[in-house]
Amino acid sequence: MKNKIILFFCLGTIAWPHFTACSSDTENSVSISEMKRVVKTLASDGFMGRQPFTEGERITIAFLADELRKIGFEAPFEGSYFQDVPMVEITSKVIDKALINVGGESFSLTSPDEIAINSPQNVKQVSLSGSKLVFCGFGIVAPEYGWNDFEGVDVRGKTVVVLINDPGLYTSDSSLFRGREMTYYGRWTYKYEQAAKMGADAILIIHESLGAGYEYNVPRKSSITSKLFIDDTTASQRCKVTGWLPAKSADLIFEKLGYKISELRAAACKRGFKPFELKASFSSTIDNEIVKNKSTNVAGILRGSSKKGEAIVITAHWDHFGIGEAENGDSIYNGAVDNGTTMAWALEIGRCFSKLKRQPERSVILLFPTAEEQGLTGSEYYTEHPIVPMDKTIACLNNDMMVPRGRMKDVTMIGFGYSTLDSLYKEEALRQGRYLLPDPDSHTGLFFRSDHFPFFQKGVPSIWAMGCFDSREHGKKWARDGWDDYIKNVYHRPSDNYNENWDWKGIKEDTELAFNIAYQLTSSTKPRSRLF
Ligand SMILES: [Zn+2]
Repeated sequence: MKNKIILFFCLGTIAWPHFTACSSDTENSVSISEMKRVVKTLASDGFMGRQPFTEGERITIAFLADELRKIGFEAPFEGSYFQDVPMVEITSKVIDKALINVGGESFSLTSPDEIAINSPQNVKQVSLSGSKLVFCGFGIVAPEYGWNDFEGVDVRGKTVVVLINDPGLYTSDSSLFRGREMTYYGRWTYKYEQAAKMGADAILIIHESLGAGYEYNVPRKSSITSKLFIDDTTASQRCKVTGWLPAKSADLIFEKLGYKISELRAAACKRGFKPFELKASFSSTIDNEIVKNKSTNVAGILRGSSKKGEAIVITAHWDHFGIGEAENGDSIYNGAVDNGTTMAWALEIGRCFSKLKRQPERSVILLFPTAEEQGLTGSEYYTEHPIVPMDKTIACLNNDMMVPRGRMKDVTMIGFGYSTLDSLYKEEALRQGRYLLPDPDSHTGLFFRSDHFPFFQKGVPSIWAMGCFDSREHGKKWARDGWDDYIKNVYHRPSDNYNENWDWKGIKEDTELAFNIAYQLTSSTKPRSRLF
């Protein structure tokens, strides 16, 4: 296939350096066959689902290092492409069943179908006995919004029960938090951190699909999968037990107490909501299998010319879920879309840079973080131990879950409004005959759920941008249905497989878009981040 494309731009008054790589000859343009080769390999059964700590990791990182070498990116970690990430792997098992006692009557919840819990502590066994349940609304303390869901209660040694997301989602009040768009306060990661800060022994988040942005099968599966944490002192900043209650189980508990989730939610959405103790308690014993180990971030750098001490970072996590619970006879979680296609995207951007006749002014880093699926662990570690300091890191362009479904008119911006990258993307999208679409699902908080986010938290302008919701060929409804179908039936399941019939033309355009933006960023004025 002849992949003829021109990756030029002319920006009115700004004189860009003459730039001739990735021009119209096949070798130098974005190559679909290269991207296919990469995904076909990374999502093959031989890579065993690319789980950190396993043989799958060893094969994956070796493959990525080899690809980086081939496109002429240097090894940035003292001559190595690998950055060790010290981690502790904890696999929790609930002993017997979790018990809920309501007014003297006990009933049990079976893990993981009726309750999805873990212990994130580096100890072999954790036990909670009769831990009092406290309903704390959305579990948010946000002084800037005048909000405190813990006001007047002491949750030390107790179990807090909270709702997912934030009050803005459920009200039509756009002045409440960010309205329908999820703020970081809506994320489970925030809620876990906050509950621990308040001294709670445990936190149970009520799962509702609208607020979570995914079905219960996601936390359910996560609770029976081993969890990775950076091996440092932060264990003391975690609760003894963390997890989720599916709405069904929460209903069961609340019904016995004379409440309904919908009523509690309505109350929790109102200013002045007061948390309160439920006349119920929670008991559970969890055994932990603890393995200290290291996983690996993979990165390569193309050194800049005049500003080599500054860098643009392109990120695509390499990890997925390995081999796990079988569905329809398939137990390998190949993660072709999550995140094989994106690794291909990143490598292809790198290949375009390597074809430039003249070095870019700033450096370009391709980063493949580990343990994204476990809570952005690898990227968080990288931002603490970066190749180029965070204040010299100009931008982070990330992607995740790029589904090859043909050309799209939209460039969906996950993180729209959080930095001045928006205007760069707007111009480039226009050049491709496309338009910017602020994430229509911003209530699901995707912006907080991939590797650009630790960069953003350190002040680096960061974005996750791809075509998704408006197919040039089939229109908006088709594109939306296809995405929903992916999230519902393929996301984090063994069915996330490579498909020879995929239409790559959209990802090709997304690659050209990101390359052009990254190229501009190698010499332009620095973009700026906007805070929450
Ligand atoms: Zn992913």
